[in-house]
Amino acid sequence: MDDIQEFCRSLEDLTPEERDEELERFKSQCICPICPTYNDCAKKEGELLFCIIGKSDECIKDRNDCMCPPCPFARRLDFGAVHNTYCIRGSELEQKK
Ligand code: SF4
Ligand code: SF4
Repeated sequence: MDDIQEFCRSLEDLTPEERDEELERFKSQCICPICPTYNDCAKKEGELLFCIIGKSDECIKDRNDCMCPPCPFARRLDFGAVHNTYCIRGSELEQKK
């Protein structure tokens, strides 16, 4: 089992409230707001951590660049820089399938 699967499994063991708290904590480590693809709509909706939560609901449709490969959170979970653009393509686990 790799780090991303362990991480997602650890979230499943939490109550919904604990999970939301944990996701909020990790959102603070997400560097999407400095990416040219990130937009005002995503900011207003508080959309972040697409690599775990999944793609943007309605806000982000066009890719300009992606800052995910050097993101400290992605490196910590050892994503391997194979996948990116999670806001449009879906989470790391979804792209691995
Ligand atoms: S890998 Fe991308 S989506 Fe995930 S936390 Fe980092 S910048 Fe945000
Ligand atoms: S997931 Fe990647 S492309 Fe999308 S906003 Fe975050 S850094 Fe930019």
